This record gives sequence, C-alpha cells and structure tokens, in this order.
Amino acid sequence: MLMPSDPGLLAERCLIGGKWCGEPVDAVFNPATGERIGAVPHFGADEADEAVRAAGLAFRQWSKLLAKQRAAMLRGWFDQIIAHRDDLARLLTSEQGKPLAEALGEIDYAASFVEFYAEEARRIYGETIPAHRADSRTMVIRQPVGVVAAITPWNFPAAMITRKVAPALAAGCTVVIKPAPETPLTALALGVLAQRAGFPAGVLNIITGDAPAIGKAWTEHPTVRAISFTGSTEVGKILMRQAASTVKKVGLELGGNAPFIVFDDADLDAAVDGVIASKFRNMGQTCVCANRIYAQNGIYDAFVEKLAAKVATLRVGNGLDDGVTQGPLITKEAVAKVEHHLADAVAKGAKIVLGGKRHALGQTFFEPTVVTGVTADMVVTREETFGPVAPVYRFRGEADVIAQANDSPFGLAAYFYARDLGRVFRVAEALESGMVGVNSALLGADVVPFGGVKESGLGREGSRHGIEEYVETKYILLGGL
Ligand code: ADP
Repeated sequence: MLMPSDPGLLAERCLIGGKWCGEPVDAVFNPATGERIGAVPHFGADEADEAVRAAGLAFRQWSKLLAKQRAAMLRGWFDQIIAHRDDLARLLTSEQGKPLAEALGEIDYAASFVEFYAEEARRIYGETIPAHRADSRTMVIRQPVGVVAAITPWNFPAAMITRKVAPALAAGCTVVIKPAPETPLTALALGVLAQRAGFPAGVLNIITGDAPAIGKAWTEHPTVRAISFTGSTEVGKILMRQAASTVKKVGLELGGNAPFIVFDDADLDAAVDGVIASKFRNMGQTCVCANRIYAQNGIYDAFVEKLAAKVATLRVGNGLDDGVTQGPLITKEAVAKVEHHLADAVAKGAKIVLGGKRHALGQTFFEPTVVTGVTADMVVTREETFGPVAPVYRFRGEADVIAQANDSPFGLAAYFYARDLGRVFRVAEALESGMVGVNSALLGADVVPFGGVKESGLGREGSRHGIEEYVETKYILLGGL
C-alpha cells in the first residue's frame, strides 16, 4: 500500500462543491508491480451534473474577484505543489510507472503552469478601437466563458490537469475535472492542495467514474461553456460531436504521429540524444514522442549504429528504483498494441536491430526497440505506437522526406536535425504540425503554445495563447456621446 509522507494527499474520494464524497470502489494499480495502491469512486451522470451545479454557483463569486485575488490563490496552489513535490512524484510514479526523475520533472512542469497563469491572470487585457462614428467610443473586454470541463489522460497525470485548470481559473472560470481512470490519485492530490491553498468551494471539482456518461453529461450541459480534452483522436471526435449540441468552445489535444528527421549535415550525436529524449521519454507514451525516424542516405548506417548503441544503455525497471530510465507501459493493452505494430512491420520486411519483445521483468515491461527497413505501408508508420519502439526509415532528399513526414492525418509535433540555415527555415515552414523542434527534441514549457493541426487538435495550451480557450471577447459600443 502506498503512503505519502503527508497521508492527507492520498484522497480516494471525489471533490464536489468543497466536499469529499463517494466510496472508493474502482481500484488503481501500480503498473510496475500489479499491486493495488488505492481506489476511487465510480460516479456517473448524476454526480457529473452535481459537480456542474457546484461550479456554476461558485462561478458567480469567483468571476467577480479581482484578478489580483485570483492570482494570489493560484500562487498559493503553486507553493503547495512545490512543497509536496516529492510526495506527488512518488504517487505519480506509483500509478503511472514513469521513472521518478521524470515524475519530479512532471510535477515541476505541472507547477510551472500554475505559476505562469498566476502571473498571467493580471494581463487579460481588452482593447479600445478608434470609433467608426463621431459620437461613439468602442471597446473590447475579455470575460471568462463560465464553467469549464476538463478531461485528461494518464500519460501526464499532473501536468495535463494544471495546463487546463490554471488558465481557466486565472481567467475567472470554475472547473469540473475528470482524470483518467488509470491515474486519478495524482489529480485528487492536486485537489487536496488546491483546497489547502484556500480555493472557495466549487471553484475546482474532480470526479472519477464512468467516462462516457460523465463526458456526455458535461458536453451536453448548458452551464458548461467550454470543454478541454487531452486524449485519443477517437474520443476527441466524440466529445466535439456532443459539444455541438450546445455550441461550446472546444479545446482538443489529440494524437500525434511525429516525424523526426536527421539530415546529412546534422550533428549525429545530438540527433541520437534527441531521439532518446523524444522517443523514449515516458516509455514512448507521449503524444509528441518521435514516431517515425527518417535518416538521410549519407548518414543512415552510422546513425542506426549510434542509436542502437545508445538505446542499449537504457535501464528498464520499477520507476521508483535508482538509475531506472524506462518504466513499465501503462496497461496490458498498451503492450499488445506495441507487439501488433512490431509483428506487422516484421511480416512486411522490417528488421529488428535491438529489443523487440516483452522484457524479462514481466508485468507490462517492454524492451527498448530499434527497427529498420520500415516502409510507409506498415501500421507502425500510419499509427502512433505509444511505446518504446524506434522505427528508422531511409530517405534521399529534402522534398522526398517532407512529403513523407506530411503524409499523415496528424500534425502535432515534428523534429529535425540539420545545420544548413536555408534548410532549417524551409523545412520548419513546410512541416504540417503545430510545433517544430529544430536540433532540439523537448518542446513543452509553460511559456509556449502547445497544440496541433489537422486531426491532432484544436486550440493551444500554455503561454498567453492558452488563456484564449477560456475567455469570450465582448465588444461594447458607447453611443450618443
Ligand atoms: P487513452 O487511449 O490514452 O486512454 P482516451 O481518449 O481513451 O485515451 O482517454 C483519455 C480520457 O478520456 C480519459 O480520462 C478517459 O477516461 C476519457 N474518456 C474515454 N472515453 C470517453 C468518452 N466517451 N467520453 C468522455 N471521456 C472519455
């Protein structure tokens, strides 16, 4: 059984209108050991409505506070998160599996959004526009949309919550949150800390349970004015369709299929380090993980050799153990998907250079894998693998690789390594994605706009752009002056 040094952080109930409620019935497991580490309530449409009612009531006061007052509350939450970062990180690793160093990094990343939007709360400026009539004046103000619903995935159990909730609260909205069933405990612990920071009852509500029922209740509820979702494209489309019934603002961070291109003029060692950081972070389970690695003819063999040598040094194990760089995958289904992608690739002629099977540790551990001879017709090329598999493709020239990179319905992140300045600009502008890393493989930060194009999503999170999802623009005309 898991016990944080501050036992109050293990909340196994839901938070509605400032009260902890429900019975812990849905078990939460540690993917590294299979051990049951806690449980959470199984709520449905009724409790989803109740949470919206609480948020709707709280909105009346919260939206009227001075920006400075909301900022102070957010700053208090940030301080609480930082003060409990070790406990939060251990909780996160225990339910999600990522190595502790990565979990600590995620808690800092999660906290950074709260800090950033505490600052940004005071900068939600309007504008005045030169009048179009002599006797009038024209202004624009930006107001909170109302109640916001946030539905989040298991791969970043803390950061995906704060990246949505902090800007919403800063703007003056109140929120209802449904975390992923695999990783609800980190979310609930953040709720405990929000309460300790003094947020009024109903400003932040968290429920767990029947995802489709809760999602339907929130997307169709007239009081909810915006929905922010991070997860699969399939579920994102369902939510968007449902949200059409009440014409809500919709923010979606969906799947990716990131190309990672290494040109002949690249610094090969830096490119290999980039692949390790991008592909193998969180065991390959991020939506911005490199999914297709394109190496140019001239450096292909040297690159594959260096990459395989580096991947061979990765250490697989329980994320809580020292020195481990690769934890387990989240579930058995995740392992089955990786196996399916590899079997399909091998059947169509790909060659496994390293790894390729379940790890001797059992559970959901999988060997870090490098595979070559990959082609466009393989499933591994068309879909996001979401696992520790690095498929390497050979390409000839710039135009050829841009066409291959863009041949996907997704467009979240893309990466390339090159030194030629002209090429850097040409390729960065030609790639169809919301984010491009040039000679750099880690994109996320509080100060930048994260998001995708095509079927990878709508809207941006982080930076001043992240506020836009949660405000409405109101134009006011003063006439008869
Ligand atoms: P993944 O495959 O990464 O688990 P999902 O899109 O299935 O991605 O899950 C992301 C989040 O969406 C989770 O919180 C999950 O419970 C929730 N979810 C899944 N199905 C639905 C649905 N039909 N309506 C609303 N939320 C859903």
